[in-house]
Amino acid sequence: MLDFARAWGLRGMPGRIFHTPDLPSRSFQSMGTLATVTLGADYADLIEPITKHIREIFDRLESEMSAYRSDSAVRELSRMAGAASVAFSEDAYRVLQLSQHFGELTSGAFDPTASPLAKLWGFNGAPVPVTQPSGQSISEVLKLVDYRRMILREGTAFLPLQGMAVDVGGIAKGYAVDRAYDSCVSAGIHDFLIDFSGNVRAAGRPSQRERWQIGVRDPFDGDGVLGKIALPGGLALATSGSYERFVDIAGQRFSHVINPRTGYPVTGTASITVLAPDAVTADALSTAFFVTGLKEARDILEKAHSVELLLALDRYPMDLWFTPGLEAVFKPGPRLG
Ligand code: ADP
Ligand code: MG
Repeated sequence: MLDFARAWGLRGMPGRIFHTPDLPSRSFQSMGTLATVTLGADYADLIEPITKHIREIFDRLESEMSAYRSDSAVRELSRMAGAASVAFSEDAYRVLQLSQHFGELTSGAFDPTASPLAKLWGFNGAPVPVTQPSGQSISEVLKLVDYRRMILREGTAFLPLQGMAVDVGGIAKGYAVDRAYDSCVSAGIHDFLIDFSGNVRAAGRPSQRERWQIGVRDPFDGDGVLGKIALPGGLALATSGSYERFVDIAGQRFSHVINPRTGYPVTGTASITVLAPDAVTADALSTAFFVTGLKEARDILEKAHSVELLLALDRYPMDLWFTPGLEAVFKPGPRLG
């Protein structure tokens, strides 16, 4: 039986990398956010070509999977809902398969078809409503949301109802990081760290004496950190904060993660950090745990292998909850000491 160790009842929120000075490092913009590639000192010669290669991968994934670009295959899928199936590249098809897999693993807490709900609340490029959506409009839109109804067959996808729409924003960056990870390994690089907007995966170490250190940002203090996580080589970490992206409706703030079971934006959690064997798992589950909260997260963690969690409740004084495996690699900052 998995146990959460309840840690400190202090204010606190999510994570950022501690940039190790002197290491070769390059940043670029993709999918509307910042990506950073850092290599061990031995690989300085490779920083330009590998960054260029990773950037091409990220940009290609964005052009296929963006919910914001009208020419993306994912947008085409939503346009063709109820009418025709759409063919996807191998990578984009894999992302759709994985999104459905995480839907199953989380009993629909993660749902790639939640997009019509997100739009109702003013996300995914839709106008922010002046007042909260009515219960009736929410139950109408809920009929269009069900990851099980997305039909995936031989590289094509089909949405059976007009009005259904797909958004893989909850896992696309994690998937991209795993592809970048594979590219670095194939290029013979043993020590590296990739950070794509809080989706991180590392290999090896920054130097012989150290491990890669990831700062977990304080959710209520943009400049502060709760502490650091020493990230073992090969593993991935994702941190997501409910205050990073939100809309204001009639003076109330709503988070960009939607509960596909109720149709309402999630509440109650300030920040989530997931440690996992790969970045796509960390990304998907960090989104899903906002929906499930702690109790159901525990059940999912028992099914998922080697996944660890740090969850900060959205209350004062703030509660932090750790799985033992996360606590083992976490070093509290001065505010928690
Ligand atoms: P980011 O790092 O961009 O904040 P997250 O990994 O936290 O992304 O996931 C949030 C994104 O996932 C939302 O912007 C939306 O695109 C999508 N999303 C929102 N709710 C859900 C959900 N319940 N299941 C799957 N994806 C979701
Ligand atoms: Mg995510």
